[in-house]
Amino acid sequence: MGDGVPPPGILHVDMDAFFASVEVLDDPSLAGLPVIVGGAGARGVVASCTYEARAFGVHSAMPSVRARQLCPQAIFLPGRHGRYAEISGQLHGILADITPMVEPIGLDEAFLNVAGAIRMLGHPEKIAYGLRDRVRTDLSLDCAVGIGRSKMIAKLASRAAKPRASRAGLVPGPGVVLIEPDVELAFLHGHKVEALWGVGPATAKRLHELGVRTVGDLAAVPGETLMRRLGKASGLHLSALAHGEDPSPVTPNRPAKSIGHEETFSHDLLDRAQLERHVLRMAESVATMLRGASTAARTITVKVKFSDLSLQTRSYTLSQAITTGGAIGQVAASLLAGIDPADGIRLLGVSASGLVEGGGDQLSFDLGDGRDVGTQSATSLEQSWHDATAAVDAIRDKFGRSAVGAASMVTEDGVQVPARRDAPWGPAR
Ligand SMILES: [Mg+2]
Repeated sequence: MGDGVPPPGILHVDMDAFFASVEVLDDPSLAGLPVIVGGAGARGVVASCTYEARAFGVHSAMPSVRARQLCPQAIFLPGRHGRYAEISGQLHGILADITPMVEPIGLDEAFLNVAGAIRMLGHPEKIAYGLRDRVRTDLSLDCAVGIGRSKMIAKLASRAAKPRASRAGLVPGPGVVLIEPDVELAFLHGHKVEALWGVGPATAKRLHELGVRTVGDLAAVPGETLMRRLGKASGLHLSALAHGEDPSPVTPNRPAKSIGHEETFSHDLLDRAQLERHVLRMAESVATMLRGASTAARTITVKVKFSDLSLQTRSYTLSQAITTGGAIGQVAASLLAGIDPADGIRLLGVSASGLVEGGGDQLSFDLGDGRDVGTQSATSLEQSWHDATAAVDAIRDKFGRSAVGAASMVTEDGVQVPARRDAPWGPAR
């Protein structure tokens, strides 16, 4: 590193096998076993898996049916979103202690810009090792940290820092990888094009047709050619990335726009009562996540995908924010009542948006059966219920008890649930 040249200042933190590691943490008898968190049913998807499962070729987003073929002895768990959200809150608390320049990317991932804090906190590599130690001490979980001049390089570096699974056993990763500017292009060019942001299966296929397999291959293709083959915007973007140019800044404190839970069913559902039971259960899950994030929500959305894959969403915005499963369930159930399930419902989701700080004072409710029901103040519990009841009347006025039709009630900010917060991996059965 030359005199006066600042070290790369962007960190990417990513928990190792997050959901699966939390399951092993909470049940040590699972240690060393292939554990898969995801939907075990015919349409289920792997959400997370331990390195012992990865050794068999299992990876996240893989259909569960395929995962079971590869690793028949795998232990499937349905996942506990409230618990993941709780630990995620602790992780983001640790990150916020380091710098306010944190951009959260889902539950277990974030970018940090420490370039302005080097004098105070030391070299980014030292910050990264300190962060890893603290995550391990406070959460008893492992994370990987990548460091680079850009978000793209930092993200690729954190992947390089992770452990690797093989049939011979787990190969521990370095935990922290820093990519110095002078080796950046060599590092980048060794990756497959699929590693770049914006290269999905369709783009990858078109690039393969050009004979492009690696980022290095991509960098050698003239920008003009890429723009012709991929369109101007995509061609320019990929050409820049291949040359190590990623100007996207770390954008701190981007609040979550929504928190949601959705599931694909193993067979299409037609029965209103059954759908309502699912909606109420999902509402409880959304409430737990809201409390984990210390937020309350003003807008509740119900989303359905029909058997023909068409989508319908219905939203309602309350005058007050609500936090309880009961209240969210009331609103969601009345939104559901306006949707006709006669064509068969394949996917159902409940989400909360219009998020505001503060999920109630910390007064614990014990139902007496040992269930964790979170914490909620008595007054906000009552208020929540009152507001929801008023909303239900308004929804009935607006949509009717069994209104049918294509009227989509999508609000501008309220509907799209960030994929990382979803539970799109399908049902357990
Ligand atoms: Mg992760």
